[in-house]
Amino acid sequence: MPIRLYDSLTRSLRELQPGEKDGVFRFYNCGPTVYAPAHIGNFRTFVVNDVLRRLLELEFGPAKVKHVRNLTDVDDKTIRRSREERRPLEAVTKQWTDKFHADCDALNCLRPHVEPTATGHIQEQIDMIDVLMKKGNAYRAADGSVYFKVSSFDGYGRLSRVKERELQVGSALAGKSQAVDADEKEDATDFALWKAHKPDDGVNSWNSPWGTGRPGWHIECSAMSKKHLGETIDLHTGGVDLLFPHHENEIAQSECCNGTPFSRHWYHSEHLLVDGKKMSKSLGNLYTLDDLKAKGFSPLALRYALIAGHPRKQLNFTLESLHAAESALKKLQVIVTVFHDPKYRVAGNGTPSRLGEVLGHLRDDLNTPAALGSLFKLGHEISCGIGGGPTDADVATLDQILGVLGLEATKLNTLAAAPKAEAPDDIKALAEKRWAAKASKDFAAADTLRKELATAGWSMLDRKDGYSLEPLKK
Ligand SMILES: [Zn+2]
Repeated sequence: MPIRLYDSLTRSLRELQPGEKDGVFRFYNCGPTVYAPAHIGNFRTFVVNDVLRRLLELEFGPAKVKHVRNLTDVDDKTIRRSREERRPLEAVTKQWTDKFHADCDALNCLRPHVEPTATGHIQEQIDMIDVLMKKGNAYRAADGSVYFKVSSFDGYGRLSRVKERELQVGSALAGKSQAVDADEKEDATDFALWKAHKPDDGVNSWNSPWGTGRPGWHIECSAMSKKHLGETIDLHTGGVDLLFPHHENEIAQSECCNGTPFSRHWYHSEHLLVDGKKMSKSLGNLYTLDDLKAKGFSPLALRYALIAGHPRKQLNFTLESLHAAESALKKLQVIVTVFHDPKYRVAGNGTPSRLGEVLGHLRDDLNTPAALGSLFKLGHEISCGIGGGPTDADVATLDQILGVLGLEATKLNTLAAAPKAEAPDDIKALAEKRWAAKASKDFAAADTLRKELATAGWSMLDRKDGYSLEPLKK
């Protein structure tokens, strides 16, 4: 069964196949702007893309997948941060690039094969703008900025279907005033390819045929994708927030410049909500990986929580979902241990693994929740010997699945072996009192003591034969 993935451009499920004769699958994923720590909403996109990359490598072979993800290291936000902190732009972007890498490593995301930066590709961006100017798809405003002329590209709006709505509004606005200021763009929908130098930019500007300035944001992906993957790529991905205008603009620039289709396939992962709301600083629900680590959660639990929902549906993240992810990882580790223990192994007589169904779910539009659901069901059955214990094929398939999910056995075992925090004596005494109250059916007292423990930052997990104490993650 080939990999089928939803294509945002044709709005249909389509097979993923390399388009070039060399059999290399060319995959571009829009990367972060490096001016602050990435939040868990950003990481949803990167983790989903990591699963996709791993699945592609399983399908086509690791040497036949080329993954490029850019770093936006010059834009309004990075420059503002550099100005506020009175540090060179490179110092700011290096700090946050390093942090992004450390977070990605902790989340077990593979590094892209090429990670180009906007500042490292100024000439490539100028070259593309130059072609667009010569072809009449771009114009220079009086202040030295260069804009893409949206009306020059008939295909504009194909991806986002905005043409009928927003574009009409834009044109109507522009049409009202015949005499548009010479230093402004000609149409409200046109977008900047080159931004003329402004005093706030400080030293962060480059020479160009149109005067000093810096590239607009959209052009960097067109230029870097062309340089590292060629004019037509197999797959372009990003979060759904990038669909318009960023990806629409990338298509316009690339296709007008190169005269060839830009990407054969477009894929967008959906938003992450936190506690049912959009993430925002003012709501206090904008978590970074460090925030969650400080609450005692492992990065692998976050990885699990981020793939527990369908990538094309909004996912509601809560701290409870992280607790659930930790429990799921523990159960998975038990299944993995049984599978890897030769004493439970049974002869398979060459039959394919029952776990093949799990990979089938991943190949079917990257349905991670269905894959996890069937992994637990079949994994539990096989490890319990229902329908026979694990065969060699089951073990091999389980390892492949864990590899694609980025939840390899070694990672799960390390997590399981991590030392647990020991409760102090006063907490142990409170727990003993509560256990006694519960045993004597004084549930009111037991409940009061449970609340006391929670206030002190501990939770008591009751079992039939006893209890355990765990630090409470807030
Ligand atoms: Zn991009």
